Amino acid sequence: KELGAEIYLETPATGLIMEDGKCVGVKAVDKDGEEIEARGKAVVVATGGFGTNKEMIKDNFGYNLWEDYFPFNVPGTTGDGLNMMWDAGAQKFGANIEMIYQLKDNMNWFLLDAVLRQPNLLINQNGDRFMNEGMMGNTTYTGNALALQPGHYGYCIMDGKILKNYKKNGPDIFDIVHPEDAFLAVDAEFDRAEEEGYDGFIRADSIEELAEKLGIDADKLEETLDDYNDMCDEGYDSQFHKKHEYLHPITGKGGYLVGKYYIAAYGTVGGVRINKYGEVMDANLKPIPGLYSAGSDANTIYGDSYNFTLCGNTMGFAINSGRMAGEAIADYIDENF
Ligand SMILES: Cc1cc2nc3c(=O)[nH]c(=O)nc-3n(C[C@H](O)[C@H](O)[C@H](O)COP(=O)(O)OP(=O)(O)OC[C@H]3O[C@@H](n4cnc5c(N)ncnc54)[C@H](O)[C@@H]3O)c2cc1C
Repeated sequence: KELGAEIYLETPATGLIMEDGKCVGVKAVDKDGEEIEARGKAVVVATGGFGTNKEMIKDNFGYNLWEDYFPFNVPGTTGDGLNMMWDAGAQKFGANIEMIYQLKDNMNWFLLDAVLRQPNLLINQNGDRFMNEGMMGNTTYTGNALALQPGHYGYCIMDGKILKNYKKNGPDIFDIVHPEDAFLAVDAEFDRAEEEGYDGFIRADSIEELAEKLGIDADKLEETLDDYNDMCDEGYDSQFHKKHEYLHPITGKGGYLVGKYYIAAYGTVGGVRINKYGEVMDANLKPIPGLYSAGSDANTIYGDSYNFTLCGNTMGFAINSGRMAGEAIADYIDENF
């Protein structure tokens, strides 16, 4: 504002203004419903991807938003900017989600999410184990393993006795995302989940009850638990080589406690192709004059999995791609106006 910029809130852009092959502004609808135009020497589109657009998620990745895929999302990221750029001739390129995993609606069930993701028995809807649960501290590996299971989810099972041990001695896996007192404070959230009928958490007192609630054949579930407990007793996971210190027998003492974990992400990344100046490229890899993109709309430097080794990677890209586009636009204006 000090530099004279005008900021229009509650004024979604609806399209790009193209003249003589150049981008010279945006159309928008202001908060009173009036159509307006904002003209400029260049445009930067940075609308954050399409993480909240159910149809685009289905078309691009085959997932059903809020049904078998439960991401974090920045509200309002509906793919508007990408659609505008594609309409203006931008190449469709590199749309992805960076795969992670979490409970559905996890921000409302943060303690459950923290506590139930310990490396106990993780099974799919068929009642089978499918990975070394010792890797559950790695959201990327686990998300990708879940993505291959029926329905893109898995049940992580522990019992009251194991939880008691965690409360006393600390969990098997520590993380820096969830609250440190989660294990001591979780009981109230278990109760709230049952009161509110939250289906991301399942509690049962017997294998039969558990099988019924999970919709898994009781004999199959018992067999999986027996096999698992045998390996715990032997101290050797002959299926997936989980570390022996994570092999706690699940006897049901204190009740079975289960989290239903789904694949997830932090919105989407990518959709258009930019060059090192932030210029948006057309189908022939030629820059569209005056059109720049930054942030998640243009972030194609990561793949289809959360970059576990570089936390903050998408914000870092958002900030720096915006800065680089700004520098390039200053040069573009110097050279062309
Ligand atoms: C809970 C959560 C935790 C996260 N944690 C991390 C983290 O630890 N590290 C990390 O790197 N990243 C994290 N992210 C991701 C990070 O927030 C995004 O990568 C980043 O915000 C992308 O910035 P952006 O500017 O591209 O888009 P955004 O920040 O999403 O901004 C896009 C904006 O465009 C607006 N918009 C959309 N359509 C229109 C339109 N038609 N007209 C006008 N405006 C429009 C949207 O309302 C939004 O305000 C997290 C995200 C969430 C939701």
